[in-house]
Amino acid sequence: MSLRLFGEDVLFLQRFLTSAGFYKDELDGRYGENTDKALTEFEQKSQEIADEFGAFDPRSERNIRSLQLKAQRVARVFLRTVRDAEIEARIISGTRTYAEQNNLFRQGRFGNPGPKVTKARGGQSNHNFGIAWDVGIFRGGEYLDESPLYQKAAEVGLTGELEWGGNWRSFPDRPHYQLSTGLKLAMVREKFEGGQVIV
Ligand SMILES: [Zn+2]
Repeated sequence: MSLRLFGEDVLFLQRFLTSAGFYKDELDGRYGENTDKALTEFEQKSQEIADEFGAFDPRSERNIRSLQLKAQRVARVFLRTVRDAEIEARIISGTRTYAEQNNLFRQGRFGNPGPKVTKARGGQSNHNFGIAWDVGIFRGGEYLDESPLYQKAAEVGLTGELEWGGNWRSFPDRPHYQLSTGLKLAMVREKFEGGQVIV
């Protein structure tokens, strides 16, 4: 295997694979045979979904494959629909480990260079459970931080299975999409940390 999902964070990988229904062994943070087997199975399923729903650019692929399987399906349908509307969209962020989320939280805080990009610490974002992604819109390969096309992407791509961050009153987050689980974040976290299947 080339690049391992979630790098050196084996404990996070095990939690993720447990909540995805593939890993049933101890959460010991050691990359053993059962972890490898679960990851291989997960990656096979991810590939089947890519074959069925179509693949995208390498960055989108990497991020989509970091999501829970249901989120992978929904993300691929979403991205296909948005691209069919001639919007040059990519999925520029998928699942983040708790450690990665904490690093992001530190940006713009505690004397670190800004800007602040998130209000969530590790375990406080749906990105930490494999059910959220961020879209980036590009023009001629150049990333657009602000563009009316973020609104347009939501207009064409939003379905009943999805919640769009652009609709959040207090902190609109237009690149952000997540599966509608009907669950509060704390409950999703409890399931994730308790090794239950989320979606
Ligand atoms: Zn997001």
